[in-house]
Amino acid sequence: MNDWIIMGGGIVGLSCALELRLRGARVQLLETGICGGQASGAAAGMLAPYSENPEYPDEFFMLCRESLDRYPAWQQLVRELSGRDFEYTACGSLYAVYHEADLLGLRSRMNWQREYGSSAVILQGAELREAEPGLSPQVAAALWTPEESHIYAPDFVAALKDACLKAGVLIREGLEAVQLKEWEQGIKAVAQGGEVFQGDQLLVCTGAWAGELADELGIRIPVQPIRGQICAYAWGEERTPLRHMVFCNQGYLVQKSNGTLVCGASEDIAGFDTSVTDKGIQRLLKWNKKVLPALEQAEPFHRWAGLRPSTLDGRPLLGRLPQAERVLFAAGHYRNGILLSPVTAALAADYAEGKEMQAWHEAFRPDRFGAATRA
Ligand SMILES: Cc1cc2nc3c(=O)[nH]c(=O)nc-3n(C[C@H](O)[C@H](O)[C@H](O)COP(=O)(O)OP(=O)(O)OC[C@H]3O[C@@H](n4cnc5c(N)ncnc54)[C@H](O)[C@@H]3O)c2cc1C
Repeated sequence: MNDWIIMGGGIVGLSCALELRLRGARVQLLETGICGGQASGAAAGMLAPYSENPEYPDEFFMLCRESLDRYPAWQQLVRELSGRDFEYTACGSLYAVYHEADLLGLRSRMNWQREYGSSAVILQGAELREAEPGLSPQVAAALWTPEESHIYAPDFVAALKDACLKAGVLIREGLEAVQLKEWEQGIKAVAQGGEVFQGDQLLVCTGAWAGELADELGIRIPVQPIRGQICAYAWGEERTPLRHMVFCNQGYLVQKSNGTLVCGASEDIAGFDTSVTDKGIQRLLKWNKKVLPALEQAEPFHRWAGLRPSTLDGRPLLGRLPQAERVLFAAGHYRNGILLSPVTAALAADYAEGKEMQAWHEAFRPDRFGAATRA
């Protein structure tokens, strides 16, 4: 294993840094702001491959599912290495529908997902009210998927950072800007203040900013930020906490053990603007009362937004660039980067070690959007 420079200190960069370091690499991680200061710190932390992939078992679903399987051991490793605690709750999920006609869709989804590790069942009537007493009587049925879980993303990312530091990853934050100056003979990156960082290999984990390297590398990197606006209510014991994560076709509600109920999230195109708009939050408030009527009497105490790194086909960029053999990509995880972080770290380290990859991993090739066009 060589000397690695990792650009980006979100959950993806930190996870890859830890895995590479544990496999013997020397790793320097460069972050323009603070680790976890962008999408990773804004996320709801749901680990929900089944609810997020209702249609069919494609490669993306397989990647999500494999990552869910890796979570118990991965979060335990981070817990032990960092010595920090964070919430990781295996509460299962309910995907709620409002009309009898939607049952057909739920059933076909349940059937294919049961072939891939889910033990989902459809709950209705008294069974559903007993499972989640606060749900609106308008909810006709829900698909209960016991395997899904969630993590408190800000604490988990902080623990990941500590685990990296303890394992010997060099982390530099607050660099303001980092530019790639050399990637053919070796790696040279220069920070805003002129500080130079050198290595043999580069791992790009810059999330929604990954496209900024297109000119330097002379390739097409179609990653764009999709803003997610999200809010939280104070929702402790006195309010009957939700027992499951609850999804519907408009969004989701997640009960956190710190007594907050997180409600997300919008999907808007606003460039790199992370401000919260009244329109974005009002939309959330409108539908979430239809799921949980008790929200009629509540006002969120916290509103925030983050930038999901979205690619043209919704799949991450994961692998080496044939055009630039020292450059590996792990970016563009869109709505599922928290879920996908353990499998991404494992695969990035496998690529780094030159291991033979499985054929289906080709679906994530970072050069799949067309031939390189040198700038
Ligand atoms: C509201 C919301 C809710 C979400 N909920 C979930 C969820 O429940 N479950 C889930 O799995 N996913 C969720 N996501 C998606 C998830 O947050 C992202 O997919 C994930 O955080 C992406 O991680 P990342 O490390 O690639 O990006 P980021 O966390 O954005 O990290 C990229 C980092 O790169 C840095 N950077 C940029 N340019 C440079 C440069 N030139 N040099 C060095 N550093 C640079 C940035 O400062 C940033 O810190 C949610 C996202 C949002 C916005």
